[in-house]
Amino acid sequence: MVEAFAVASGKGGTGKTTSTLALGMALATEYDVTVIDADTGMANLLFHAGLDDADVTLHDLLIEERDVQVEDAVYERFGMSVVPCGTSLASFEAADPARLRDVVAELAHDTDVLLLDSPAALGSKSAVLPIVLADRIVVVLQPTVPSLSDGLKVQEYAHSYGTDTAGVVFNRVRPDENVDRIAEQAGRYFGGQALASVPESDAVRAARRAGEPLLAHAPDDPAADAFREAAARLDVRD
Ligand code: ADP
Ligand code: MG
Repeated sequence: MVEAFAVASGKGGTGKTTSTLALGMALATEYDVTVIDADTGMANLLFHAGLDDADVTLHDLLIEERDVQVEDAVYERFGMSVVPCGTSLASFEAADPARLRDVVAELAHDTDVLLLDSPAALGSKSAVLPIVLADRIVVVLQPTVPSLSDGLKVQEYAHSYGTDTAGVVFNRVRPDENVDRIAEQAGRYFGGQALASVPESDAVRAARRAGEPLLAHAPDDPAADAFREAAARLDVRD
């Protein structure tokens, strides 16, 4: 049975897209993984996955008149099925976010794990639907009080729709930060589920510039190890 995860956060730039592709590649060693860029307003997964010139994207599936099939927007990359989203503002405005429900349902037939790279802010239909459609959320946070506060709001929202918390990825953790304190905070606020502390890493930025997920570009980097650890702790249901 498929399990769908929304990779979410309160604000932009916490590392959702980086995490989505890293977790996806780690899980793809064991499962059929489909990654969807559901951040339809600020899509950028295509730049992280070498899909800048994808002809058909999620936007086309969300615009009825475009008349394309779901499989036309699926690209096999890095051992995963990847559905990128386009970057055109006009397409975003023409898209019907509610159609995401059908796209997800159709993709769910052919995969074990669905990862939805989700928008940052709550408040609009396109922003919240990935969280509503998912079974569990992975919250990506920086280990700071404002970021924790944002993450808690996302969690509260998810729980109100029956979406559970899979855990928290603390990202961009600097060497001087106290990892034990971070884990303790995860325990206190997010039910004990710190999935990993991912270090600040030049390799993450280099991977993005190369248009490759971190686990393809620098599989031996400590940040890649941390993402593999997070993926193992997700305990995907079979
Ligand atoms: P989001 O999808 O949440 O907006 P991204 O995954 O696009 O965030 O990351 C935002 C920026 O931060 C990117 O330029 C990315 O390369 C960088 N970044 C993310 N995680 C790390 C990290 N652990 N170390 C260094 N840079 C990172
Ligand atoms: Mg993103």
